[in-house]
Amino acid sequence: MRAKINEIFSSIQGEGPYVGIPQLFIRFAGCNLNCGYCDTDCDRFKQFSPRQLRQEIKKYYSRYHSLVLTGGEPLLWVDFITEFANLLAKEQLIYLETNGTLEGQLEKVIKYIDIIAMDFKLPSSTGGAAYWRQHKHFLEIAAAREVFAKAVVTPDTKLPDLIKTAKIIEGIDRKIPLVLQPVHPQEFKVRDKISKFREDLSGFNLDLRVIPQIHKVIGVQ
Ligand code: SF4
Repeated sequence: MRAKINEIFSSIQGEGPYVGIPQLFIRFAGCNLNCGYCDTDCDRFKQFSPRQLRQEIKKYYSRYHSLVLTGGEPLLWVDFITEFANLLAKEQLIYLETNGTLEGQLEKVIKYIDIIAMDFKLPSSTGGAAYWRQHKHFLEIAAAREVFAKAVVTPDTKLPDLIKTAKIIEGIDRKIPLVLQPVHPQEFKVRDKISKFREDLSGFNLDLRVIPQIHKVIGVQ
C-alpha cells in the first residue's frame, strides 16, 4: 500500500492553540473538498509505503513535539495511516489536521491520534456546500481525544454559520476551543467582522479564540 505525499518538512505550528510548537509535517496529496480559499498545491507528490515513510522521517531532527498529518485531507488515507501508526508504535504524538467531514474514516484511526485540529467548513467562507451533519458527528467522535475546532473567516463569512458551529460545539462539550482564523493575517476587511462575531457569540459561553496563521506573519513554511 502506498500513499501520495505532497511534502515532508520540519517547521513550527502556525495555526490554533499549538502555535509556535516545533513539529514535523507530512502533507498528504488530495482532498474531498474544494474550498474557495484553498492554497494547497496537491498536484505534486511522491509515493511512499508506510515503511518508506517511517525511514524518511528518521532523517529529520527528532526533537519536535509531534508529527502532523495534514493535507489535502489525510483521512483519505486511513489504511496507510493505520499501518504507519503501527510502525511508529506510539514513539511520537500524532496531530491530525482535518476538514472534519469524513467521520467514518476518523472512527477507523482515532485510536492512533493524540490531538485533532478540526475545521468547520462554513459554506459562507468556502463558497461550497454545508457539512453540518458530518461536522457534528465528526466532533462527537473526536471529543474522545484532545480536539479544537477552527473556522476560517473571510470577507464573506456570515454570522448564522458561526452560530450553527457554536451550537454544535456547545451541544458536545463547551470546553472544546473554537478558533476564528482570518483567511489571511493581513486581511483588514475581516478584522472588524471578527470583533463583531466575538460579541455576537458571547452568549454561548464557549472557549472562543482569535488566532491568525503565524507562519504567514513571520514568513516561514
Ligand atoms: S479542505 Fe483544506 S485542503 Fe481541502 S480544499 Fe479545503 S482548504 Fe484545501
